[in-house]
Amino acid sequence: MIGESEFIPILKTTMSAAAPTFQINSEDFEPAYMKLFRTGELYHRSREGLKHLKSCKVCPRDCEVDRLNDEWALCKTGRYAWVSSHFPHFGEEDCLRGWNGSGTIFFSMCNLKCVFCQNYDISQHRDGVEARPETLAQMMLELQERGCHNINFVTPEHVVPQILEALPLAVQMGLRLPLVYNTGAYDSLESLRLMDGVVDIYMPDFKYWDEGLSAEYLKAKKYPQAARAVIREMQRQVGDLVFDENGLAKRGVLVRHLVMPDNAEDSRRIMRFLAQEVSPHTYINIMDQYRPAGKVTPNRYHGINRRTTETEQQETVRAAREEGLYRFDTRNPTAHRALVRP
Ligand code: SF4
Repeated sequence: MIGESEFIPILKTTMSAAAPTFQINSEDFEPAYMKLFRTGELYHRSREGLKHLKSCKVCPRDCEVDRLNDEWALCKTGRYAWVSSHFPHFGEEDCLRGWNGSGTIFFSMCNLKCVFCQNYDISQHRDGVEARPETLAQMMLELQERGCHNINFVTPEHVVPQILEALPLAVQMGLRLPLVYNTGAYDSLESLRLMDGVVDIYMPDFKYWDEGLSAEYLKAKKYPQAARAVIREMQRQVGDLVFDENGLAKRGVLVRHLVMPDNAEDSRRIMRFLAQEVSPHTYINIMDQYRPAGKVTPNRYHGINRRTTETEQQETVRAAREEGLYRFDTRNPTAHRALVRP
């Protein structure tokens, strides 16, 4: 763990002079949900959210099962969320983990069925504990007490109503951290609208542009349209990413993209979309850690049964650069904590 004094304020040290000022004063910051809490709207949203469980269309799978009666379908989650683990996470982007970690709550199960999932045990099987609203609120408070800089909901697409149900309790108990919505981007617009004014930082992972690849590898042919629509909606809600004077992200959209084998054109189209249809100031984390996992074997899904090459990773970086996007450089040791324009 690094100490606060060792954490380099990125905006003071590494942003290029030409970069726009994405900075707010931490003393002026208040999590978005506080305003809704004061007006009573947060409680109203939590009640609204539960209605969406009755004939579930909480995500684009539109299963229409009665989750209020604990029925479940593709996401294997009924009335209450399941939490696999919660802890201060130091593997997230520097602007989220800071020096005390990102307060991560990993939800069990996922509404995507990525054949290459590196957390297959968590994402496709029930794991951990059933978290009723009081338990979920208590987890948030515990992470806040441990000094985390934010609450980071991982794989929240199928449990938006359950998160909303727990939030007023957590706020009453003293929660004051920004919320990170860390998603595979297969969300429904209705769910995201419930989160309007609640979430501070959206972190969608835009995986594939192509419908055929999405059908084969994510088991979701409609994924590209859904991802495009929700990322636009996220940008409408929270705008470009802004940081405090210590380089901690406070509000906005941060996009992730995992470089996949033989997928350069797909990646390029995603970069173009972000720059031209979301915002030219979008921050992108181009991730290079793909490795075959989950159901990928030499005999199944052989097209992605290898790691990506340095050339493939650089092609995607080049695409981001050509579109003028901002990029998190996690591999340059001298700029390890830096946000740089490639
Ligand atoms: S949240 Fe689960 S039950 Fe509801 S539509 Fe999505 S996959 Fe189906």
